Formats: sequence, structure tokens, C-alpha cells
Amino acid sequence: MMKIAVASGKGGTGKTFISTNLAYIAADQGSVHLFDLDVEEPNAHLFFPERVRDSRAVRRMIPIVNAEICDHKGICTQVCEYHAIISLATTTMVFPELCHSCYGCLELCPTRAISEGFKEIGKIHRSDTGGLHLITGELKVGESAAPSLISETKTSVPQEAQINIYDAPPGTSCPVIEAVKDMDYIILVTEPTPFGLHDLDLMVQTINQIDRPYGVVVNKSQAGNNLIESYCTEHGIEIIARFAQDINIARAYAQGKIVSAVFPEIRTRFETLLQRIRERMI
Ligand code: SF4
Ligand code: SF4
Repeated sequence: MMKIAVASGKGGTGKTFISTNLAYIAADQGSVHLFDLDVEEPNAHLFFPERVRDSRAVRRMIPIVNAEICDHKGICTQVCEYHAIISLATTTMVFPELCHSCYGCLELCPTRAISEGFKEIGKIHRSDTGGLHLITGELKVGESAAPSLISETKTSVPQEAQINIYDAPPGTSCPVIEAVKDMDYIILVTEPTPFGLHDLDLMVQTINQIDRPYGVVVNKSQAGNNLIESYCTEHGIEIIARFAQDINIARAYAQGKIVSAVFPEIRTRFETLLQRIRERMI
């Protein structure tokens, strides 16, 4: 099994364009799972509008304190590393948005005043398009537990595929690390603008901490613009593919089309990209 993540330092660089087309091409070579881990704004399903086969809620444990038994001595407050439970003189409060559901307070409460409560944080949807299986994590509006849902989405498929492709959330924070930390290869998608370069630099600093192989895909590349090339040369990073800015491709993509299915030259580029990744995996 091969695990490839597609990530970018900011939204709108073409991350979903790369992940959906790569999954489409890979499905010709074996079974593919495409995981949409951009849980706050999943959109890969727009390109594979098959009927959802299965949808389930994801919940996580949030402690409930029985005020009648609580002694307010605050052992729970001392053991909680996340400051998610505070015991005061007359009340003990839980802050669900800080809680990491570690069960520490439940296990160490001397009076057994704490029990399990559950809170829905989102849903996982599954749909099939031939040999391609799309698994989408969708975070509930206002919910902050993106890393939990990402982790659950990544492990939600019972049987393995030959190729797993993960569309990571944009940015460089905890959800991204959760999405890409165990990959065989990470594609960093960027565009040749000062903002694109700035976010690529942040992303490179983040990915360097987890020590996984990675390369850069320049999307919307323009002849004569060497902004990303100069940066990558300076930092010894390989550019594994370029996709030129093209109004016809942009139009087809905006219509929800898999452009590899429409433009043979784009199909060839994605086939080459997949082959390069295979050769560079460790
Ligand atoms: S550890 Fe249990 S008994 Fe002690 S303050 Fe916390 S909830 Fe109350
Ligand atoms: S379950 Fe863990 S994170 Fe949540 S309140 Fe208890 S000790 Fe803190």
C-alpha cells in the first residue's frame, strides 16, 4: 500500500485539483481510497458526485461531573494537561472545546463523580466510483476537534487499497500534521505568487519536522516566473510537476469535471507525476 498526502499552506492553490486527478489516474492502476481530510470544507465529492453509500456520525467522549458526589478537591484539575476541567469551591466545570477525551480525569477521580458523556463532532461519508472509493470527513459547524475527526476518517476504512490519497486541510497547524504525519510521500501544492511562496515556506518548515519525503507541485505556473523554482533550488527541494495556468482547464475544473478525463495532455502529466512519486518513496 502506498500513502500520498496532498497539502498546501493555504486554500485555493489547487490542492483538490491535484488530489482528485491523481486519484482518478491511480484508479486505472489499482484500487484507490481518496480521503478528503479538509474536514472544515470538504469538496472532493463535487468531482465524484456518486450517491453516498454510507454515512455515520463521529462522536467523542466528554466527561460529565456528578455535582452531588464531587468533593471539589480538584484532582481532575491537576491531572488534566489541557486545562479542560476546573474544580472550584462549589462547582466543577468541563470545557468541551479544550478536552482531548484522554479519560485521565475519569480514571483518577477518587469519588467516581465523573462519567462518560458523548458529543457529535462530525460525520464520515463513503461513496464509490468504480475502483475509486471516496471517504469524506465533515466537521460539524462550530466544532474545533478537526484532528480527532481527521484521525478517525483516516482509519475508517476496513479493507486496504493499493493507493491511498489524502487531501489534507490547508495551513500548517495541528490538523495538517495529523493528516500527513505517517505518509510515504507528501505533495506540497503551491502557486507562483508572493503569497504562495510565503505559505510554501511555512509548509516546508512544518514538513521538515516530521521527516517524510516530499516534493512541490507548482500549479498555475507561468512562463518566465521563477519565484518557486528559485526557492526550491535554494532549499534543495524537488519540483515534481508543473501545471500551467490555462483558461480551458480552469473552466472545466469550475464545472466539476475531472480534467484528466477531458484533456489527454493533463492525463499524461498526472500519470508522470504518479510514476515519479512511486520512484521517490522510501
Ligand atoms: S476529581 Fe472527581 S471528585 Fe475531585 S473535583 Fe474532580 S470531579 Fe470532583
Ligand atoms: S478527559 Fe482528559 S482532556 Fe478531557 S477533561 Fe478529562 S483529563 Fe482533561
